[in-house]
Amino acid sequence: MEMMNRRPLVIANWKMNKLPSESAAYIQKIENPLKRYPDVIPVLAGQDVLLPAMVEAAKNTAISIGAENMYWQDRGAFTGETSPAALEDLGISYVIIGHSERRNYFRETDEKVNLKAQAALQHNLIPIIAIDEAIKPRDDNDRSHWVVNEVIESLEGIPAEVVKSVIIAYEPTAAIGSGQAMTPALAQFSLRRIRLTLADMYDWDVANAVRIMYGGSVKPENAYELMIQDDIDGVLVGDSALNPDNFIELCQVANRALLTKIRRLDEF
Ligand code: PEP
Repeated sequence: MEMMNRRPLVIANWKMNKLPSESAAYIQKIENPLKRYPDVIPVLAGQDVLLPAMVEAAKNTAISIGAENMYWQDRGAFTGETSPAALEDLGISYVIIGHSERRNYFRETDEKVNLKAQAALQHNLIPIIAIDEAIKPRDDNDRSHWVVNEVIESLEGIPAEVVKSVIIAYEPTAAIGSGQAMTPALAQFSLRRIRLTLADMYDWDVANAVRIMYGGSVKPENAYELMIQDDIDGVLVGDSALNPDNFIELCQVANRALLTKIRRLDEF
């Protein structure tokens, strides 16, 4: 039942692709077709240099724009970094934090992810906290208790009322860019563990409010089976979402999966 309070999201992570001159055409192409799926939340995340053009093109549409990273300080001598205050001022709504590529290539730690998540929340930016940890039991002697340490450490010190707006994206490194998504059953299992970890840290009210995404080689052909899983509230998509037609199709699939979930509840 609680899942019905979590509107599905389709989030495109453009990574370091696309040019400023290409971003407006993409948004113009998806804008009208997406009106058919008002229950789906479309988010496009682009590199910083594209963001002003993306915000301008998405004005007066239902499309939200996200950054792919940011620093945790508002101002100062941090050459080359991006301030959360600047993102807020520009009209950015979301920010991806701790993507697997940032953890692996730029040594982003859970501690930095936590500082960035707190700074994002202070600036009305919804943090999309990416988790790439393999899901395993807390203790080999107690295989009944699974926790996801990256979730615990990334959310350290964030109070219950605030954490409800956070989005968690589970993106196993092996699935990213490999063409091979996790099976829907395994993805559901992992996301359930993330929700249980949230219930452990906070309570079920919080655990049921937080939106949890799956990411890693999602495309229109495999998205439906993933999105009908109870704990999968949306998808974070790299390669496939570079094509605007695929993005439209992913939103259509998200809408179809939502209808399936509603029907399932009715039958229940
Ligand atoms: C990503 O890097 O966030 C991602 C999900 O990539 P892909 O869809 O290409 O696997």
